Amino acid sequence: MSRFERAHLLVQKYGGSSVATPDHIRNVADRIIACRQEARHMVVAVSAMGKTTDQLIAMAGQVSSRPTGREMDQLLACGETIAVSLLSLALQDRGVPAISLTAAQCGIRTDGSFNRARIANVETGRLVHELESGRVVIVAGFQGITGNHEITTLGRGGGDITGAALAAALQAPVCEICTDVDGVYTADPNVVEGARLVPEMSYEEAIELAASGAKVLHPRAAEICMQYDVPIHVRSTFHRRPGTWIRGGMMENAAVVGITSDKKIAKVTLLEVRDEPGLAAVIFRELAREDVNVRLIIQAAATHDRNRITFVTDNDQVDRIRELEAAWKRRRIVGDVQVDLDVAKIAIVGSRIASTPGLAARMFTALAKVGVNIDCISTSEMKVSCVIGRDDLDKAVRAVHAEFFGTASTSRASRSTTTRPATSRPARKKAAAKTTGATARRRSAR
Ligand code: ASP
Ligand code: MG
Repeated sequence: MSRFERAHLLVQKYGGSSVATPDHIRNVADRIIACRQEARHMVVAVSAMGKTTDQLIAMAGQVSSRPTGREMDQLLACGETIAVSLLSLALQDRGVPAISLTAAQCGIRTDGSFNRARIANVETGRLVHELESGRVVIVAGFQGITGNHEITTLGRGGGDITGAALAAALQAPVCEICTDVDGVYTADPNVVEGARLVPEMSYEEAIELAASGAKVLHPRAAEICMQYDVPIHVRSTFHRRPGTWIRGGMMENAAVVGITSDKKIAKVTLLEVRDEPGLAAVIFRELAREDVNVRLIIQAAATHDRNRITFVTDNDQVDRIRELEAAWKRRRIVGDVQVDLDVAKIAIVGSRIASTPGLAARMFTALAKVGVNIDCISTSEMKVSCVIGRDDLDKAVRAVHAEFFGTASTSRASRSTTTRPATSRPARKKAAAKTTGATARRRSAR
């Protein structure tokens, strides 16, 4: 028995790509053993192997036209259960005491919303008992259990949420999110060659980046860690160099921390909406009832007693909108509904963006210079986002990234501040050549 001391606890989460094959699982087991030299107690949340969840969803689609609800969670939870038992077997095989637990076994209580459950609390009794017995505890990510013993899942990418909830419940000194990239970048490195690793950012910035399309961390995980004041370290599974630290207590600095982009959106325009009180309420209430995520809403001033309402949603929700369209037309709420899938969203994200004069103008100017037309604009305190043509997206991301971060990376991940970078253009170009080389090396090393 070793008494549980939170100062000696390390909570880690490994994503699906980190445990994609038995080989990967053996590597993760070795990594856990290496980490255990420093941390006395380890709790590890794990996602389903590779594309398992996608495959299970596809299989469900072959037997059901609307695979949702309880049975879907029963099915999807299996992916994580497989991964944790294999990892625990690999650890035991290396002589390390380990135990795998499903969410039900370790007491991750959620509400009853199947497919997108929220964690109510995590019971720590079993976890602490196993840690005190000297075991590495491997917990199935993404799963939950309701008060009625029903299995739930937390929504796609929910493994991060489990990791954060475990770290919060156990008051861990850090929550490590171990993944297949080195950390959070200033833009998608697959699109922008000069994208840089951001060494640290605030919880708020991480939430906003994640919510507006950066794939590396689930926004709800950052929310939980912010609430419980647990620092997050997003880092690579494949080496031990530091990645991105996300924590509180940072100086408020008006700066662009990253550029996000999202191709999986649809723009929906409701034409000839009757201009009378309560109709917008009806429309958005019915969208919510159908679980349609609505992100950006624009209503133009009414002409001839008719409104035009535009909103952005995920592109996989279009079928539900088509169903609603028919109902709205029947009730004469709208004249017509246009769905545009050839669109994408680009955003600049950071602290005090909207209230800092000039940042939006710089973004729009960068887009104009490469001939990108802006379709819709929306701003919040922490971001400015634009809907543009889908084919323009990569060009747009490169142009906006160059505007705020230059193309050079002389100082790794220096933030783009409200003042223009001092480096002259030719100097930036020269350094860019170096970065490109480094990026290429890093990529091929993976
Ligand atoms: N396996 C789940 C998914 O693919 C959860 C996760 O990966 O975090 O969405
Ligand atoms: Mg996954």
